[in-house]
Amino acid sequence: QAKRTGRQGICFFTSAVQQRAARHLQLVNALRYAIERKQLHVVYQPQVALRERAIIGAEALLRWESPELGNVSPAEFIPAAEESGLIQSIGAWVLREAVRQAVRWRAEGLPPVTMAVNLSAVQFRNTDLPKLITRILQEEGLPAEYLELELTEAVAANDPQGAIAMMNNLHERGVRMSIDDFGTGYSSLSHLKKFMAYKLKIDQSFVRDITTDAEDRAIVNAIIQMARSLGMRTIAEGVETIEQLSYLHEHHCDEIQGYYFSRPVAATAFRQLLLDGAARAFNNPA
Ligand code: C2E
Ligand code: MG
Ligand code: MG
Ligand code: MG
Repeated sequence: QAKRTGRQGICFFTSAVQQRAARHLQLVNALRYAIERKQLHVVYQPQVALRERAIIGAEALLRWESPELGNVSPAEFIPAAEESGLIQSIGAWVLREAVRQAVRWRAEGLPPVTMAVNLSAVQFRNTDLPKLITRILQEEGLPAEYLELELTEAVAANDPQGAIAMMNNLHERGVRMSIDDFGTGYSSLSHLKKFMAYKLKIDQSFVRDITTDAEDRAIVNAIIQMARSLGMRTIAEGVETIEQLSYLHEHHCDEIQGYYFSRPVAATAFRQLLLDGAARAFNNPA
């Protein structure tokens, strides 16, 4: 009798730790079948070059619609996929899906765009990654320079020697690399110059208050200057207003990405953005 009450007590007062563990298990169990049950899809967000006023890239962002759990954010399910090892198959699926989409747009004769795909730390540490990428590019028929791999600064900073070696390997295969969430990952400047990065993605936390916060401005300006002198391009993430866009343009940021121009959209809607061109993003349409 007493024992049963005790168990019920435990059920009522589940700790936060237990709740997190239960959620993790729930996510992993549902995620295991997400690919074969066709619950995953990829949306694309334009990357717009400011001087050229053109869409020059697309970032592939993963979406999961689970019948049991609803729409789960990648910020929540990617960590669960990493801890469970499922990220290897999910990451490979996203790569192939995004590369395939880039090939389709090229075949339709649309303006050329680079396809940017996020890499998880677990994928990046896998020594088979370069072979996998080369195989996908060959099988799908995309020239390597149209693929860009996004690695967060935190992952690169955590193992700089490994990051330098892997980025060198991928660079030699013709694939571009960009450093995501730049400014939040504490990479040392001596390592940064050795990363074979094509582009720095300025984290959206610095962009948010760029028109009002003098310190954020100083950080963004410093990142842009440093990238320029190291021969890297810059893209600002999370650009939501014309004021942010104008500031970045005046301060020689090369590209922007954010809701101001477009949210991440399905492939068919992205195709229409490519047809319309980027002119409508600016006050003075061509
Ligand atoms: P991220 O790579 O830094 O992607 C940018 C995030 O900012 C995306 O969130 C995007 O939807 C959001 N965003 C874009 N423009 C704006 C804006 O103007 N304002 C605001 N507030 N947000 C904006 P999302 O799609 O939820 O992805 C979150 C993170 O999940 C990504 O951050 C990335 O780290 C990870 N992720 C997404 N897809 C994948 C994937 O296929 N593989 C891996 N390994 N990670 C992924
Ligand atoms: Mg990214
Ligand atoms: Mg980012
Ligand atoms: Mg991020």
